[in-house]
Amino acid sequence: MITEEHPLTLYNSMTRKKERFIPQDPKRVTMYNCGPTVYSYAHIGNARAAVVADVLFRVLRHIYGEDHVVYARNITDVDDKIIAAAKEQDVPISEITEKYARIYNDDLAAIGCLPPTHQPKATNHISHMAQMIEQLIEKDFAYESDGHVFFDVSKYDDYGKLSGNTLDALRGGDRVGEGEVARKRNAADFVLWKPELDGVGWEASFGKGRPGWHIECSAMSKATLGETIDIHCGGVDLKFPHHENEIAQSCCANEKPFAKYWVHNEFLNMGSEKMSKSLGNVTLINDLLKVWDGEVIRLALLKASFDSELDWSEELLTQSKSQLNGWYTFVAARKKQIGEEYIYNPEVVSLGLMQSLYNNLNTPHFLSRLIDFFKSEDGETELLQSFIDQGKPPPGTSDVLSMMINTTRVLGLLQKDPEEWFRGNTSDDEEDEINDLIQQRDAAKMAAIAAKKLGDKAKMGEQFKRSDEIRDKLKARGIVLEDSPDGTTWRRE
Ligand SMILES: [Zn+2]
Repeated sequence: MITEEHPLTLYNSMTRKKERFIPQDPKRVTMYNCGPTVYSYAHIGNARAAVVADVLFRVLRHIYGEDHVVYARNITDVDDKIIAAAKEQDVPISEITEKYARIYNDDLAAIGCLPPTHQPKATNHISHMAQMIEQLIEKDFAYESDGHVFFDVSKYDDYGKLSGNTLDALRGGDRVGEGEVARKRNAADFVLWKPELDGVGWEASFGKGRPGWHIECSAMSKATLGETIDIHCGGVDLKFPHHENEIAQSCCANEKPFAKYWVHNEFLNMGSEKMSKSLGNVTLINDLLKVWDGEVIRLALLKASFDSELDWSEELLTQSKSQLNGWYTFVAARKKQIGEEYIYNPEVVSLGLMQSLYNNLNTPHFLSRLIDFFKSEDGETELLQSFIDQGKPPPGTSDVLSMMINTTRVLGLLQKDPEEWFRGNTSDDEEDEINDLIQQRDAAKMAAIAAKKLGDKAKMGEQFKRSDEIRDKLKARGIVLEDSPDGTTWRRE
């Protein structure tokens, strides 16, 4: 599928260049993404990071095969904020972490993110963290101080390379409070191990305690993926200090490069003036999902390239919803045309469209070409012809349509059945009620036709009026009826 002329390229934050992606082993491509600290609901900004990594995961699976890409995204289930939340709510820590880990996974599934291959929990890898800290102490990259263990940044020459931070900017850049400064050799040293807090601690050769946040990812990525990983993803907000510290720990402990490619997604801007009141306060994925379908949120998040900032607005969501409505109309038409056989075939995709993704995951370019395609109903545009020339399927509009649908599905969109899409979230009771009204309307129409035959104009008018009333009543609820020779179906507006 991937060609020499169109290789996968990624913007590597470490080299600050777009580079051709070459995995260490094409049979085992590895990627790591920093997961959530589970003590509250995830923000839409977290969703962007997860969706970007998911698109990369899907593209890699498409290129190298589903069994040849290993993706790890951790769960941070030990943290001062978690300990504080458990104390405040007077519940066991696991009650909080399990609840929010579950909500996080459910929210991400709703916006179309595939589950990662591995989802390591920090508390299951404490021994790996302790082992790594021992190595760092042994090699003199780390030192003990008053129950803590710190990493000595002055011992690692490449410290600051990823973020480009100067020593001045590096002061106090970790999760340790002001009081810790006195225990450090250098202001920029960061904590690897902290003493026990509120009974939360594990035995280690350097004292009972709990890990710092950064060492968690170094230990979990090594345990699940190996010492050198192909791609490390994450939000640009994690570049410093978190990723910088992961690199320092892993490179010094393993004496090997840590990650070959760094893929950082840019910020999502919530401050847009266009933001209406109704969206203004909704920043949690979980809340957005109460109003918008997960695919609408996903499409909105893909409107900007991952390495550009994205202005988040209600308009963006409205526009995404309307585009998906249009695309699902095509899917429904295709399904009608060829029956149930329209089922997803990842082999039959448009190489032309995939090339947008191979080019540094350029999702806006992909989407603009897709929008152009769906606009041209005759399928005779130059763009279409280029897909036919390059792709495997035989020429013909309907095949190209299937190809476009399949390619869009690689992006994690159009995952639903069109009927399900148009009906939205409908309860069984509501569905029964709608079907009942449709039957009543059919009966009224039949009665009107019968009355017409009998010349009973009054009854005919009355029954047609009844039929129209039912249609209008449903329309007022946003439900549109569509009559066809096969009967009446309904969808949401
Ligand atoms: Zn991390």
